[in-house]
Amino acid sequence: MGLKAKPRDTLGLPHLQLNITGFGMSDSDEPDSSAAVSSIAPESATSNSQPLALSDVSPQDKPWDKHRSFADRVEGFYVGSEFQGYSSRIHCCSELLEFGLAPTEHDTLKLKLRSARFCRLRHCPVCQWRRSLMWKAKAYKVLPKIVEAYPSHRWVFLTLTQKNAPIVELRETLKQMNRGFQRLVQLKAFPGVGWLRSTEVTRGRDGSAHPHFHCLLLVQRSYFGKNYIKQDEWVEMWRKSMRLDYNPVLDVQAIKQGSKPMELVPELLKYCTKESDLVADREWFLELTRQMHKMRAIATGGVLKEYLKELEQEPEDLIGESESPEAQEDSSLYFGWKRPEKRYRLVSQE
Ligand SMILES: [Zn+2]
Repeated sequence: MGLKAKPRDTLGLPHLQLNITGFGMSDSDEPDSSAAVSSIAPESATSNSQPLALSDVSPQDKPWDKHRSFADRVEGFYVGSEFQGYSSRIHCCSELLEFGLAPTEHDTLKLKLRSARFCRLRHCPVCQWRRSLMWKAKAYKVLPKIVEAYPSHRWVFLTLTQKNAPIVELRETLKQMNRGFQRLVQLKAFPGVGWLRSTEVTRGRDGSAHPHFHCLLLVQRSYFGKNYIKQDEWVEMWRKSMRLDYNPVLDVQAIKQGSKPMELVPELLKYCTKESDLVADREWFLELTRQMHKMRAIATGGVLKEYLKELEQEPEDLIGESESPEAQEDSSLYFGWKRPEKRYRLVSQE
């Protein structure tokens, strides 16, 4: 790097200190905006160095490189298929990221995403990551309110599966599971007064599809007393609801008294299909696209619906509001996707 780094103590910018000079805070704790951005122009780098990489100046933004790399691979899968149009959409997805600089509580600055263009395709690795982040943020915000409204209730985490299906039968299998789930929640013995359900599809080693439901149930306290349902009884209920001739694999976990359901959010609202499965095989991926078209990823019911039904929709906002306050200055840093080296680098600032 051609830029001299100031010692960390004087800069107070543990994430930015290696590459950026001039971000020091003045005595008034106001960012020294005159010095802040003028010194990191790409052209200020010497001839043997590259413009700043996003992952170097902002470790918290490292995931961008990873997800956009997967997006490149998915984009390639769509080329020459009936989804050619999707490949162009993914190509343009989040190619340019605009960040502002926001102060943190430690008197340092961090990058805060201001704008980006997203393709919003279901299986775009960038967009499903952003979607999952937005859903999680919403759940973390709302679940404490439900805990407060139902102080004596408890939580159960249920994972419902059935045998793997050929990928070409995934859509029909998911429809059957939806119908089975509807029958399950209507059983008299079903303990959930409210539920949140997400669908995950993983790829079996043999190229089959493994669809499963993750469900968070709000149950009355008596579930852990006289109304307790044992594992084999759950299996029986799910087998009957699904009208299967075998016992399906099912996992049920009680959330300990006093524990909050928030700890289940990462498992519950993760991606519909993990990135390594998306890129494992082109034909499988194209069939997944066909099979999952317009299938809903998240469903809510019972008393949780009024709190969480927003999660059933595609989030309008994929930028998100972070906890940090708005960027204090108007200048923006633009990072562009550099395909050959799979990194975002600073392309301009204003
Ligand atoms: Zn996208």
